[in-house]
Amino acid sequence: MGIRGRLRRPWVDDIRMTFLARVARFLFWLLVVSWSVALLRRLLVWMLRDASAQSGAAPRAEAQTGSAGRLHRDPVCGTHIAEEIAVPLREAEATLYFCSTECRSQYARGQRFAANA
Ligand SMILES: [Zn+2]
Repeated sequence: MGIRGRLRRPWVDDIRMTFLARVARFLFWLLVVSWSVALLRRLLVWMLRDASAQSGAAPRAEAQTGSAGRLHRDPVCGTHIAEEIAVPLREAEATLYFCSTECRSQYARGQRFAANA
């Protein structure tokens, strides 16, 4: 009975408009909620990673996974250094990573001596 009554009303377009507006608003909020959930999840992962990095067990775990924050061994002083903060040196076969420019120049000097000898 409600449908017949509604269809005769002159403001039926208004109802349709408000329905569409409601659907649009619903979709908008769905988008917002899904965005914030994704953002919160990313924030949570970031916070958890940050918290685990501060604990003592972190370096070993990082070395085991190897994918994120890869560690390289400085061939001069033997220090394990993350790829992001290491000083790279491109060799013919591979890239070497050093903890500092000092170690890199020391290595380069050693290579030159080896080449001269
Ligand atoms: Zn070093």
